[in-house]
Amino acid sequence: MLDDSSLTPQASAVDAPAGPAPLIDPFQRAISYLRISVTDRCDLRCAYCMSEHMEFLPKRDLLTLEELDRLCGVFIARGVRKLRITGGEPLVRRDIMHLFRRLSRHLDSGALEELTLTTNGTQLTRYADELASLGVRRINVSLDTLDPDKFREITRRGDLKVVLDGIAAARAAGMKVKINAVALRDVNADEIPDMIAWAHGLGMDMTLIEVMPLGEIEADRTDQFLPLSVARQRLETRYTLTPLPDRTGGPARYVRVEETGGKLGFITPLTHNFCESCNRVRLTCTGQLYMCLGQEDSADLRAVLRASQDDSVLAAAVVEAITRKPKGHDFVIERQRPAAVPRHMSVTGG
Ligand code: SAM
Ligand code: SF4
Repeated sequence: MLDDSSLTPQASAVDAPAGPAPLIDPFQRAISYLRISVTDRCDLRCAYCMSEHMEFLPKRDLLTLEELDRLCGVFIARGVRKLRITGGEPLVRRDIMHLFRRLSRHLDSGALEELTLTTNGTQLTRYADELASLGVRRINVSLDTLDPDKFREITRRGDLKVVLDGIAAARAAGMKVKINAVALRDVNADEIPDMIAWAHGLGMDMTLIEVMPLGEIEADRTDQFLPLSVARQRLETRYTLTPLPDRTGGPARYVRVEETGGKLGFITPLTHNFCESCNRVRLTCTGQLYMCLGQEDSADLRAVLRASQDDSVLAAAVVEAITRKPKGHDFVIERQRPAAVPRHMSVTGG
């Protein structure tokens, strides 16, 4: 049995909570946020994310929804306060609402602060009402362009109208929507200012993301890469950007766009290192726990989960994995193959 008391040097006898010790990594970062990729499959094939002919995992390798629920419960018992369901496209996983229904009990009990998801928006007209009724208050929708032809080109098959209808359905259901757009040098760079005006005009925050070297794709990502430092300089010719102090423990830095009144985030893993305040770990749909998006080390929680029904055994495996959380990643985007990290974003979960 692991003695994990050595992992919680900050907790004293006086201020320690009554329950099990929280997850603290070797760099004194409290792990309060779990991202769960519930499937590596998707109904789109965004050119920077996937190759045209992806080989997906056999379905038998996936954790069942019950197993995912059990694992989430173990993390929540150890102090995780926020869950983000992602993928691949989480809403294409069969019967995915069953998992949301199960997890929402932790919102009701107060153990969980937030249950949310990242989606491409194609299934939202179908699921928005139920998600909202289960306590999902905010969602991220990924959308890189408002031009229908460009949308089809980037996603290799998508229909922009379906996504816009999905966003409308989510807003009508009362959920706050944030738009995530990957900045792509020759594809949407010119459109970013207009997208910001559109999103902020509808009361939606927006975040720009730099392309990360995750997984093999047909294109060379150095051709796609637009440093957000450059995008920001261009934006400043049209907008006044006032830095905001917001920190979410994540990689985003925020500004207020004075002309629109809206919030804009920049996720810059390549031009700005964000690891020092990292509060998150990522679970794949096969039960591998990655302690860092940009590193290879992982823990096989599926094997532990299937070997024992005892949650304390599973919790010990989680605690052990957290002791291996690295200080940070070392992404570099270069004309190199293979990609810096061989896993696609759809496997580890964006
Ligand atoms: N399918 C959902 C979606 O698109 O929102 C969730 C999964 S997707 C992998 C999560 C996020 O990762 C999306 O915002 C997507 O644009 C982003 N993404 C995918 N591949 C990326 C890459 N190589 N670099 C940076 N962002 C990437
Ligand atoms: Fe699918 Fe999301 Fe990847 Fe696009 S970014 S291919 S929507 S998983």
